[in-house]
Amino acid sequence: MSIILGIESSCDETAAALVTSDREILAHKLAGQEEEHAPYGGVVPEIAARAHAEIITPLIEAALAEADLNLDNVDAIAATAGPGLIGGVMVGLVTGKALAMAANKPLIAVNHLEGHALSPRLANPDLDFPYLLLLASGGHCQILRVNGVGQYRRLATTIDDAAGEAFDKTAKILGLGYPGGPKVETLAKTGDADAVPLPRPLRGSKEPHFSFAGLKSAVVRAHQGGAYRPEDIAASFQQATVDCLKDRLLKALSDHGTVPHLVVAGGVAANGSIRAMLEKLASDHDMQFTAPPLWLCTDNAAMIAWAGAERFAAGLTDPLDFAARPRWPLDPSAEKARGAGVKA
Ligand code: AMP
Ligand code: MG
Repeated sequence: MSIILGIESSCDETAAALVTSDREILAHKLAGQEEEHAPYGGVVPEIAARAHAEIITPLIEAALAEADLNLDNVDAIAATAGPGLIGGVMVGLVTGKALAMAANKPLIAVNHLEGHALSPRLANPDLDFPYLLLLASGGHCQILRVNGVGQYRRLATTIDDAAGEAFDKTAKILGLGYPGGPKVETLAKTGDADAVPLPRPLRGSKEPHFSFAGLKSAVVRAHQGGAYRPEDIAASFQQATVDCLKDRLLKALSDHGTVPHLVVAGGVAANGSIRAMLEKLASDHDMQFTAPPLWLCTDNAAMIAWAGAERFAAGLTDPLDFAARPRWPLDPSAEKARGAGVKA
């Protein structure tokens, strides 16, 4: 049994966790930065990096104290090394390197997306490879076939905005504040999903990818027109997003076939309508549906520690000069998607 310290700082959450190779979460600590970013309606990279730097050491100390451990008891140190906001990633990675050096422990440089991709296996010991993963967060929207540790095939990605970004922007347009996803979901409950005609970008397209920019623009126009109630815009937007995700997943299943498990990860997985759609889609295709608990869906360090544990078990550690990578695709062999603002 090994114990891994995980460190996460790639966006607006600073986190530290201790997780064992037996899936025991010994401690997990998280400090959000919502208050710092709220006045700007989104994450400000420089503010994020400073906030990470202020809190990361006390947070790691608190995690160790909660688990009643010190660095000598830890087998390896796993830190997010990208992709993400470079200032924040550097804070976490440099901290991980310093601790690894001081305690003479191996460093594991974890791809944040790999943390999300493997997190369902921390929660569900019966989830074996391969599985189909919808990874939908504030920065990413991808369909991946997870074949094993370090073996990811990207089947689809967004050619412009991420699904979570579309939720956040819709919230901003409707004046709901940041972070927007949960607020849009709450407002949508009282609205009519058929009230506002909104597009389903790329629905039925031969391309496998997602697009949300046109949907966002349509939300802006619907709001500016003044003809629709905010709750109807929220409900209609959420339904359009559900339809887009479903259509692209059906495309991936028809192009690549089914696997035993359909899995969702990333902050958008918190959305009840999206979960319900995925559950139905899975059962229609004789697949098991797995979603990690909500706290494990959004950014956290337990998923980084767990990805570290999986990599450590596979003998994968990294040199101390491993450089932070603001862009770091999980599947480097994936072709670039066509589109205006292509994301890795
Ligand atoms: P992450 O990037 O994985 O930390 O996830 C954060 C993203 O998930 C943000 O864009 C949120 O708006 C989005 N999100 C969180 N909760 C919900 C929800 N209930 N419905 C839709 N999106 C959500
Ligand atoms: Mg994330």
